[in-house]
Amino acid sequence: MARYTDASCRICRRENSKLFLKGTRCFVGKCAFDRRQTAPGQHGNRRPGKATDYGAQLREKQKVKRSYGLLEKQFRALFEKAERMKGVTGGNLLILLERRLDNAVYRLGFAQSRAQARQMVTHGHFLVNDRKVNIPSYLIKPGDVVKLRAKSQNFAFVKDSLDTVGRRGVPSWMDLDRDSFSGRVKELPTREELPPTINEQLIVELYSK
Ligand code: SF4
Repeated sequence: MARYTDASCRICRRENSKLFLKGTRCFVGKCAFDRRQTAPGQHGNRRPGKATDYGAQLREKQKVKRSYGLLEKQFRALFEKAERMKGVTGGNLLILLERRLDNAVYRLGFAQSRAQARQMVTHGHFLVNDRKVNIPSYLIKPGDVVKLRAKSQNFAFVKDSLDTVGRRGVPSWMDLDRDSFSGRVKELPTREELPPTINEQLIVELYSK
């Protein structure tokens, strides 16, 4: 499968916001975006022109898509699923993104970034309701228990990550049990519990053209 292999920090500079793609580095003084807030590339220092409606919609879609580490085809498929669901499409899209297993692993603090969470899931380190699941796009639901496999619980980087999860905090719709390396989904998140910096309406407008 195609994947993005260039520097993650370029994405934050391109989207002009901190997307927290690199774990610990994002919280300490080494953040590339904190040091240089220009777009990447040879012409990054140019004063940006006035954004068109289309430009604003495109940038918002790219920002969200890249935050969750998805490619266009996956993101579009999730949007179409959100459209078919009852309720507000934009809110549904964000909830579907949050329900992905790789995101749940990241939110619970087992990984420092969604990219790391995705790799851990792919490598089979997690159980959902005591069954191995190695599909990052697996959608968790209320009542599900996500658990790190016993033989993976000694990884130093997992312990480091759990020690630093306080920086981000575990969302209110999930419960983390550190002793058993597991987390339970209490309920689905509501729009109010999701990042307020996202303007999902712009994404809906873009895909509705
Ligand atoms: Fe983005 Fe993190 Fe890189 Fe900062 S360190 S630019 S937040 S990926």
